[in-house]
Amino acid sequence: MPMSAAGGHRLRVKPGSPPPSQAGIRCVMMDLDGTIYEGDSLYPTSLPFFDALTRHGIAWGFVTNNTSRSIDSYVARLRGMGIPLAGRDQVITPVLSVADALRTEYPAFKRLFLLGTEDFRREMQAFGLEETADSPDDRPDAVITAFDKSLNYDRLCRAAWWIKNGVPWLATHPDVFCPTTERTWLVDCGAITACLETATGVRCQRVFGKPNPDLLQVMLKRLGLQPSELLMAGDREHTDIESGLRAGVRTLRISTGVGGGSAETRADYCCRDLGVFQRALFPED
Ligand SMILES: [Mg+2]
Repeated sequence: MPMSAAGGHRLRVKPGSPPPSQAGIRCVMMDLDGTIYEGDSLYPTSLPFFDALTRHGIAWGFVTNNTSRSIDSYVARLRGMGIPLAGRDQVITPVLSVADALRTEYPAFKRLFLLGTEDFRREMQAFGLEETADSPDDRPDAVITAFDKSLNYDRLCRAAWWIKNGVPWLATHPDVFCPTTERTWLVDCGAITACLETATGVRCQRVFGKPNPDLLQVMLKRLGLQPSELLMAGDREHTDIESGLRAGVRTLRISTGVGGGSAETRADYCCRDLGVFQRALFPED
């Protein structure tokens, strides 16, 4: 029976899951938007939580679907917010899964038409991938759609042209909007992908990022951990929690953010914010 995801001052534990302090958690991976901050404002519970994890020797980091920024740019931004990140391997985005899949599963896709920000395009180039020109004479091996905050109508139409002409097509993540505190609505990769699907009648052949488990598997492999030793924390049921369930790790649903519209959760743990979870994880502190 799924628990209600409504916020509370107390942690709720799914029947059958161990209390967090006895779960053997060795790494905590967190979503960003709606989990540790909203817009430019860190939640007051975030920094004390990272500090407690470090004091107790638990690894921590961030998993975000947002491909509008490169990993280096995330590291700079997070450090600028006062988060004491030790290195860039604490941040994971679908760029890593896309680059990995291109190397191992689609080695023929070398020249790409990218619908993404400068940051994204530079990052793909750093993986040795080449961008084609915005020209009908320069056919790419694949089209990749990302969270393109610099979306340009002519490039959107060029992507549609290649898709309509049978060029393989991948997308970095499924989110249709990105939460923000600004008085605007941030149209995300999933909505750009849906626009192209509607225009062309072609379905995108593969979508990376949460809810796929590949990002968490990157972290498990890096740290040599068993799935039960990693906890995925996030505010969205259908991306954060789903990715955790698919990777077989432990899951924490936070109700600070948008919540993805789901009122119920299948997570092991559920509470209002990271502060409530911190007290349950370290009851002796
Ligand atoms: Mg979120």
